[in-house]
Amino acid sequence: MKAEILCVGTELLLGDIVNTNAAYLARELAAMGINVYHQTVVGDNPGRLKEALGEAFGRAELVIMTGGLGPTYDDLTKETVAGYFGREMELNQPSLKAMEDFFSCRNMKMSENNKKQAMMPKGATVFANHNGTAPGLAVEGEGKIAILLPGPPQEMQPMFQEGVRPFLMKYSGQIILSHSIHMIGIGESALEQQMRESMLAHKNPTIAPYAKQGEVLLRVTASAKTREEAEALLRPEVEAICREYSEYVYGVDVGDLQHALVAELLKKKRMVATAESCTGGLVSKRITEVPGSSEVFECGVCSYANRIKSQILGVGEETLAAHGAVSPETAAEMAAGIRKLSGADIGISVTGIAGPGGGTPEKPVGLVYIGVDSEPLTTVVRHQFGSRRKDGREYIRYVAASNALRLA
Ligand code: ATP
Ligand code: MG
Repeated sequence: MKAEILCVGTELLLGDIVNTNAAYLARELAAMGINVYHQTVVGDNPGRLKEALGEAFGRAELVIMTGGLGPTYDDLTKETVAGYFGREMELNQPSLKAMEDFFSCRNMKMSENNKKQAMMPKGATVFANHNGTAPGLAVEGEGKIAILLPGPPQEMQPMFQEGVRPFLMKYSGQIILSHSIHMIGIGESALEQQMRESMLAHKNPTIAPYAKQGEVLLRVTASAKTREEAEALLRPEVEAICREYSEYVYGVDVGDLQHALVAELLKKKRMVATAESCTGGLVSKRITEVPGSSEVFECGVCSYANRIKSQILGVGEETLAAHGAVSPETAAEMAAGIRKLSGADIGISVTGIAGPGGGTPEKPVGLVYIGVDSEPLTTVVRHQFGSRRKDGREYIRYVAASNALRLA
């Protein structure tokens, strides 16, 4: 099935908002094995919308649209699509009821023009909106499908997952299943280069990399008649990739590094504590974002000043004088110090130069030492992160924290 994405909104054309809906939908459709060949943006203008819709259906069978489903006079997407398919509009009672409930739950009065959102082209499939008022819909006819979703991403994304994905699967008679392999320490382009042949050769399952800040997510997707068949296609592929890239893989379907770490610590019944210099508490922030982290997180010390490194964490004044705050020796003593102070099983430390100032030829910006102290070993790893980016400081702090989470 060929698909297109058509986003409606004058504020998109003016550059007032970034078209994150198109990016989201393109990624999701690619993961489902649906080819997207064109993306279009059109303003809130029925004439031009009609024209864009006609052009899109000239090339594709499926057009997914976002925006213009609201209650105001400029929200005309539904009416334009109804016109294209030659359908009349009718009141959809379940949508009206859901909308009345939405307002009464919030002690608000529903305005007359909200009712417009419950008007649907005849024969449409309606997708409930659990995060707002405008329902989504699909209109089918003569081998074409238009899917209309609300503009706000916080409404559109859950509706896609809960309503549209199952709708498209049922339509194609296929189950589409993905597993996400999370990696750190390898860049997206390096991985793509290494895996190029294999990515091109694979049609089912497909393999697609996505870059995340300092990480890569490899999504492996299979389609089959049943869940079991899809799983049987996926399993050997996922296992083979995990084996081949074991030094980078930190989990499959784990969400992110902090969730993976907390799950691992819960399983092993181990407590962790952090001593952070250049990350200023980011490691402890990310661990404590995870519900249930109180079972595994003891405490964090944000030891920016050398005085605190020595007085609280017990880093030797000689160590600081001989090697400096950014050194493997200091990282090791910080990790050991926080473990002793807190009584945790594992002490993690981060010390480095986040920049943009403060670098020297011997210790350039982006140099970070990460220490982990646990019985019977203390490990220190040196990283040199790139510093030429515009968001250099923020990037260095983030990837330093990521690598600390990975090492713990
Ligand atoms: P509403 O009921 O809020 O009017 P709507 O379905 O009519 O929703 P729009 O009026 O087109 O949608 O957009 C509402 C808001 O949703 C925009 O102001 C913007 O914040 C967000 N939005 C719309 N389209 C996109 C897009 N393509 N990418 C990201 N955000 C978007
Ligand atoms: Mg609107």
